[in-house]
Amino acid sequence: MTEFELIQIYFQQDQSADWLSVPIGDDGAVISAESNQQIIVTDTLVEDVHFFAGTAPNAIGHKALAVNLSDLAAMGATPKWFTLNLTLPEASESWVKTFAEGLFALAKAHNIVLIGGDTTRGPLSISITAAGTVPVGTKPLTRDAAQVGGRVGLIGSLGLAAQAVSARQQGQEPTSQQAQALDFPIPQVEAGLALQGLATAACDVSDGLLADLGHIAKASKVVIELDGDRLARICPAQTQASAEATLSGGDDYALVFVMPLGQAVPNWATDIGQVKAGMAKTGMAKQPVAVLGGPEWLQQAAKNVQLAPGHQHF
Ligand code: ADP
Ligand code: MG
Repeated sequence: MTEFELIQIYFQQDQSADWLSVPIGDDGAVISAESNQQIIVTDTLVEDVHFFAGTAPNAIGHKALAVNLSDLAAMGATPKWFTLNLTLPEASESWVKTFAEGLFALAKAHNIVLIGGDTTRGPLSISITAAGTVPVGTKPLTRDAAQVGGRVGLIGSLGLAAQAVSARQQGQEPTSQQAQALDFPIPQVEAGLALQGLATAACDVSDGLLADLGHIAKASKVVIELDGDRLARICPAQTQASAEATLSGGDDYALVFVMPLGQAVPNWATDIGQVKAGMAKTGMAKQPVAVLGGPEWLQQAAKNVQLAPGHQHF
């Protein structure tokens, strides 16, 4: 099967949209941009770095798009279109077919349209660029907009994906719930849209809760204090290992956000802490994110995580 046949059969699906006048098949796609703010995100998944070799192709297709939808959700954007750069070791039709099934099941669920891409031979890697929109006059959710006194909210579960990774690294089978969290993460697109006009700052949790809240704290020049008792309640088990997975485990694609001063976290999310004024530069090192109170096993986990932060590529 040639590259062109693969593209034609599996990617050039019925992807009509009134704003797409030239779809896949020409040298470039033609879209008419509306008078919206365009949010552009991109993410690459590389075999043996971002997923285990042998991961089911439909899971890879799902996840490659899910991680981009999660970034769009964290900006409060409505998904619109994406491009797909696929590097394959061989033109395996059955692999591509199953990959496309996972990819398009999620794409259809979120009404996002594949408008183009590139297909090359090489070590397995999937790179997606996606675009979403935010109406003019609405502020996208950014990392730098946390206000002192604002409550911190969480949507989605934490720690299950990291538990699946450590099980597989030890040659064990993760539970089906853990495997599902790692292989088929659910991007919080609706929640991101609901947070528009409600929250000020947001970030998705791809590298670990403390690391990603640290991004908000640093960008907003504030400190975030998490409530240890509340965190203990969302740990999958009441153990230090489970707390470490909750605080530093990557790959969860939950959403964290900050409410304006004086407003409660909505009841469909979990309140986990609050924003405090950042320390002036006195030379004293202060953690951007602290865990206050809570059980001993959680405190110990927080200490370990602060010493060895979440996932870093380099
Ligand atoms: P060119 O050689 O001009 O770059 P290609 O042969 O790479 O064109 O691609 C032909 C068409 O197929 C283009 O419209 C391109 O966007 C699309 N395409 C190629 N690979 C993919 C893919 N993996 N997913 C979606 N569209 C693709
Ligand atoms: Mg090309």
